[in-house]
Amino acid sequence: MSDDCLFCKIIAGDVPGDMVLETDRVVAFRDIAPKAPVHVLVVPRTHVANVAQAAREVPDELAEMAQVAQRVADAECGGQFRLIFNTGSRAGQSVFHVHGHVIGGGELEWNPA
Ligand code: 5GP
Ligand code: ZN
Repeated sequence: MSDDCLFCKIIAGDVPGDMVLETDRVVAFRDIAPKAPVHVLVVPRTHVANVAQAAREVPDELAEMAQVAQRVADAECGGQFRLIFNTGSRAGQSVFHVHGHVIGGGELEWNPA
């Protein structure tokens, strides 16, 4: 738990979150400003800053985040989704507790590949 972290506060129940799914290691809640019909954040209970730190320090949590993302997408958008990790402020990261954006539903317009 990091005192100043919004997502630690949501996980602790100190700030309200629209929870979708919870496991021992991971929570999933709706983004407050959705960018797609399905826009859910998957977040490990352990506070680490970004996806690379998660891979180094809590790889089991990172793997579970991917599985939770699949379960959210199975329930809400036919099992198909993007999982986006903004990493660093210039890449759009604004909350420095790692989270994957599960994006799905409708037609997704932008495809970087
Ligand atoms: P980032 O910009 O760090 O990749 O993603 C942070 C996300 O958190 C943004 O998409 C933003 O809309 C979302 N967000 C910011 N504040 C809150 C909040 O209080 N509750 C929820 N559920 N989402 C939030
Ligand atoms: Zn945190």
